[in-house]
Formats: sequence, C-alpha cells, structure tokens
Amino acid sequence: MKVVKEEKKRVTITFEGEPLEWIEQQINERVFHNYQHAVEYCVMKTYHLEYDRFSHINVFDDHATIYDNLKKEIVNVYFKNDPYCEKCESADCEHVKYALTLPKVVEPLREKGWIIMDGRIIIKPN
Ligand SMILES: [Zn+2]
Repeated sequence: MKVVKEEKKRVTITFEGEPLEWIEQQINERVFHNYQHAVEYCVMKTYHLEYDRFSHINVFDDHATIYDNLKKEIVNVYFKNDPYCEKCESADCEHVKYALTLPKVVEPLREKGWIIMDGRIIIKPN
C-alpha cells in the first residue's frame, strides 16, 4: 500500500482597520465573492506588479535567451517555423509568452509577416 502525504500549505493573514473596511466594502459591492477571493486578488495583483519573473539576457537571429527568476535557470526560446521553448519542449508556455513581448524578438518576426499581440501569435505566415 502506498501512502501519499499531502503537504498542505496554509497562510493566515490578518487585516484590520481601513484595509479590512475596504475589503468588506468590495465584498458588499460584489466586486469580490468573499474574503478568499479578495485576498487572492490582492496577492496576485501584487505579484504581477512587483515580481518580474523573467529577465531577458540576449536575443540572437533564431532565438532569445531569457532568465527564469522563479525556476532559477536560463531558458532558450527558438523562433523558426513555430516558437519553441527548449526547457518546456513547448510552443505555448510562459517563456514563449515572455519572449514574444521583447521588441528585439517581435520586430523581426513582424517584418516576416507575423502578427503578435500581448505575447500571443495571432497570425503566422506559412
Ligand atoms: Zn518554457
């Protein structure tokens, strides 16, 4: 018999005063469903505003080299016929999305007829 131990991560957060009033007001106005939703929103908002997961190291003719600050590793993303992340062996991962926001990657692809918006390929020539 195999026993799988589940490691539960729990965080207790205490709000008081004005921030708590604000959250209660947002819940009453149906901006958030409940406290859990409000706290998740606040944490994710801070994450997106404050945490730069990726930094770009260099852009070459056929690929971009980026650094993943979360996984602490260098990742190469290739742009030949399709985008390709060496690390994930995927055309559709966070590394590809990030590389597709770099002007040095996007501009040459646009010149070849690719249409890229917000890190996503809209149209790619055959
Ligand atoms: Zn990847």
